[in-house]
Amino acid sequence: ASSAETLLKVGADHVTKGMGRLTEAIMTKGEGSYLTLHDGRRMLDFTCGIGVTNLGHCHPKVSKAAADQCMNLVHGQISIAYHQKYLELVENLIPVMPDPSLDSFFLWNSGSEAVEAAIKMARYITKRQNVIVMHGAYHGRTFGAMALTRSKTVYFDGSEPLMPGVFPMPFPYWHQHNLPPTTSEDELVSRSLYQLELLLQQQTAPTRTAAILVEPVIGEGGYVPAPPSFLKGLREIADKHGILLIFDEVQSGFGRTGKYFATEYSGVRPDMLIMAKGIANGFPLSGVVTRKELTDQLKPGQMGGTYAGNAVACAAAVACAEVMKEENILVNTQKRSTELFAALERVRQNPAVGKHILDIRGLGLMVGVEFASPATSKYDVAAPSPNAPKNMASRVAKRCIEKGMYLLTTSIYEVVRFIPPLNISEEDMKKGCDIFAEAVEEVVK
Ligand code: PMP
Repeated sequence: ASSAETLLKVGADHVTKGMGRLTEAIMTKGEGSYLTLHDGRRMLDFTCGIGVTNLGHCHPKVSKAAADQCMNLVHGQISIAYHQKYLELVENLIPVMPDPSLDSFFLWNSGSEAVEAAIKMARYITKRQNVIVMHGAYHGRTFGAMALTRSKTVYFDGSEPLMPGVFPMPFPYWHQHNLPPTTSEDELVSRSLYQLELLLQQQTAPTRTAAILVEPVIGEGGYVPAPPSFLKGLREIADKHGILLIFDEVQSGFGRTGKYFATEYSGVRPDMLIMAKGIANGFPLSGVVTRKELTDQLKPGQMGGTYAGNAVACAAAVACAEVMKEENILVNTQKRSTELFAALERVRQNPAVGKHILDIRGLGLMVGVEFASPATSKYDVAAPSPNAPKNMASRVAKRCIEKGMYLLTTSIYEVVRFIPPLNISEEDMKKGCDIFAEAVEEVVK
């Protein structure tokens, strides 16, 4: 086999620059909460491949289920016949849905495809064209999903024209209203809902609006949970106008927030729920669930894809559903979440660094820490404008990597995001928190 140096040169010379990378390294093995790199380094993984390997890398039960399926049936095209694991997966998903009305599933490979399928269906069912999305939203990078994504221009800049009929509104995140971080949730929610009412009067008439698409915890846009009153408000407005409410739980689903779906925190029933990532712990699989009365309006053949609901991925997902129960994953998530929040709070209490932390927020193990920045320093009483350090989030993340832990930032704000495995041990959680605390101290020194 070629040396790591040779392979890294292949990467540098022949793998597109268009795919960004945090580090120039080769992952050679994944085990639980750790990744091994080509040079032997063992990295604590607080990214989970962006919220995917929720049960840790290569969970033995999940990997075995996939391996067994590989020896039995790899590809069973859904337009030819069902395969066993597709149906077993649906059977396993029904009882964990946040609302019993969500009873009709279709499976895909990636989050983006599922998002596109949901929008395609919403337009067809409602016979309306337009879709309302949130500023800061991330829904993917395929052509339709890219048009719905509003977190950073790099995702679509220069590839326009985008799919028309997308109308963004502000999410209840203080940045988006140019208000201080101390602004009350009620105030942010009422401002966002007011903007939605304006949008429906001035830009997209309700009779032209097919759907409102929202992440219950906005991911790329800053790791901010949607206040339950916001989702309730969206539900009321959607109901009033016959607009479908679609929740993108691609990142927040499957236990990430300490409940099976983040939707459960608000009790709001979406008309469609989009899932991916954690569903199969790394095997490419995604899905949309909605009401049977809606999907029954579709024509056979309208939805489909060669690999949609692949048998190996479905077998892995069935095993994931079993592990979620057998290993009390939600309980572990909540315990580790409490420890994580307490550790982050201790960092904030440290007088040397605390003044640089604007906010600690999140649900379960989907947690964001926002640093003060020159852009936000006008709101920061403790660190007046000239002293606000630049690029804190990326500098802290880089320092964590040097110290042996992968940590991600979010899109345009100074936010680092914690997405550790949901079955991480208490010891590894402590280790990650210690690395973070040291990294922040070193960066602000
Ligand atoms: N929606 C959300 C909320 C996501 O976080 C992502 C991926 N980060 C997507 C959609 C797109 O999923 P995929 O990358 O699998 O296409």
